[in-house]
Amino acid sequence: MSATDFRARLAALAEQDLLRRRTLLDAPCGPDAEVDGRPLLSFAGNDYLGLANHPMVIEALRAGASRWGGGAGASHLVSGHQRPHEELEEALARFTGLPRALFFSTGYMANLAVLPALAGRGDTVIADRLNHASLVDAALLSRATVRRYPHADVAAVARALEAAEGRKVVVSDGVFSMDGDIAPLPELLGLCERHDALLVVDDAHGFGVLGSQGRGVLSHFGLSSPHLVYVGTLGKAAGVAGAFVAGQPDAIEWLMQTGRSYRYTTAAPPAIACALLASLALIEQGDALRATLTAHRARLRAALGLHARALLASETAIQPYLVGGNAQVVELADRLRARGLWVPGIRPPTVPAGTARLRISLSAAHRDEHIDLLAAALSEMPRG
Ligand SMILES: *Cc1c(COP(=O)(O)O)cnc(C)c1O
Repeated sequence: MSATDFRARLAALAEQDLLRRRTLLDAPCGPDAEVDGRPLLSFAGNDYLGLANHPMVIEALRAGASRWGGGAGASHLVSGHQRPHEELEEALARFTGLPRALFFSTGYMANLAVLPALAGRGDTVIADRLNHASLVDAALLSRATVRRYPHADVAAVARALEAAEGRKVVVSDGVFSMDGDIAPLPELLGLCERHDALLVVDDAHGFGVLGSQGRGVLSHFGLSSPHLVYVGTLGKAAGVAGAFVAGQPDAIEWLMQTGRSYRYTTAAPPAIACALLASLALIEQGDALRATLTAHRARLRAALGLHARALLASETAIQPYLVGGNAQVVELADRLRARGLWVPGIRPPTVPAGTARLRISLSAAHRDEHIDLLAAALSEMPRG
């Protein structure tokens, strides 16, 4: 074994059909992609409401850059906290109905700050086995004891809470990013309240999509509690970039004081915050976009006919189409691609071995005929 044997390490990845390729895109994100000079119909993005290319978002970004410049120049606690960042935090708190929100540059960074701020050595983090990689990394970084429970298994969380030492933090995706299902949050919150634990919810795929006016998964279930810490990300349905953590004022102040991935990084460009303020207003008025998304989901299932059995049950924009083997999913994705359809194949370690799948992402920016094209192609292709 040598520190420089990258060739051999890459060959081992290739052996397991785990080598990733980047697709070079010559178009803005959205259904109408262009790759290698060829048009492709994309089901590969997380811009669920189509806001990334909304003229008001683009104009807010442009005007924000003219007024505030290209970058913030420093971290928030030094000199990089500008008026648009502050206004965005106020707007996010008002929108989610939570007392205070803290803006981060990315969801990954928000999660890396949250778990180490809430739990440390001698404490216990109780995590869903299918949580996003950023939460897995954050739990390890916290140095707390980490207990991972079988996906959405409320009884296992109850047992873990009984046995937990120190401060207790339960953490779950709101909507699971590779399955599209929604976490059993009312049950988890009930347990956390009984056991004096915090519940951290990462709503990367629910914010903007679920709940009243897109307020997210807490609104979907009608949940509110001082035991909740909510993470929303702003690069998916919000169509821009960034994330926020919202909750009780003291919890958020503590996060601001101690979150290392908050303190030791340059603030996002203020123009991003300007674009997000525009995006947030569009999310709030976006019931028609969310209705389009719901209609697309129903249309896909209906048009797939018997093949709809391969879709995992999902009430969200993420519609996973189960294939199984790594090589099979690569082949299916390649054949779709040859027909002008771009649907990513997802393989281990992102999903458990033997559950490779196509991850179909629907967006309000899709048109009905896009859904029909995808369903027709999938109906004609064997899965393995
Ligand atoms: C995308 C995603 C993140 C990371 O958010 P970024 O803003 O892209 O860094 C975190 N959690 C979940 C569940 C995600 O899907």
